[in-house]
Amino acid sequence: MLQFARWLFQQLFPAACPLCKQTFPAGWAEPFCSSCSAGFLVLPSGRCSCCALPFGGGANSSHLCSRCLQNPPAFSQVHALGRYEKSLREAIHQFKFNNQVSLDRPLAEILAAVIPPGCEFDLIVPVPLSPARLRHRSFNQALLLGRELGKRLAAPVENGLLVKQVETIAQHDLSASERQRNLQGAFRVTRNLSGERVLLVDDVMTTGSTLRACSSVLQGAGSGDIQVAVLGRA
Ligand SMILES: [Zn+2]
Ligand SMILES: [Zn+2]
Repeated sequence: MLQFARWLFQQLFPAACPLCKQTFPAGWAEPFCSSCSAGFLVLPSGRCSCCALPFGGGANSSHLCSRCLQNPPAFSQVHALGRYEKSLREAIHQFKFNNQVSLDRPLAEILAAVIPPGCEFDLIVPVPLSPARLRHRSFNQALLLGRELGKRLAAPVENGLLVKQVETIAQHDLSASERQRNLQGAFRVTRNLSGERVLLVDDVMTTGSTLRACSSVLQGAGSGDIQVAVLGRA
């Protein structure tokens, strides 16, 4: 009876790809359809072993980029779903700016799959928005992703641990050093840590200045190893 009810439900409401809305073929078990999945471009093997910056010019081995060599971040590793291009860029825009909040689950599902099974975390910490930005958008996309990741990685999400205390100007047009200056003093933690291993979560990593600033504040508060999970890596 239950099986019949499930079958009937699937006939009446066939599942569709959450991004392009195409109906899934019967028995489809992936979170996105095949053409959207094909547009999620994985990072090249030639990339920074710390910040995951893709290396150009056909490099195919991983080593540290010059920035991580000269100025190592407080995080040890970045896990990224893929390049911030094509389907992934579209999905992040729909999720963040078009109120398609139900994309949190399918996106977190494929993001969790790129985090190696040996990685364990005591805390999942979303990158916070400033109070004004949060009022404007009404949700923090990093928190939604963090919650879904927390279910899959069996780690608690601590949303209020890291707060953004000043409104910074938009980062898009700033250079890396200007971004760093712009973010000085922007984040603080609300309690001391005692060696907890943290997974810091955000939707996109471009220059990495925000994730660097958040990580150093967490490290200053006494965290253990910090790793980063993002959907898109520019
Ligand atoms: Zn699709
Ligand atoms: Zn790097």
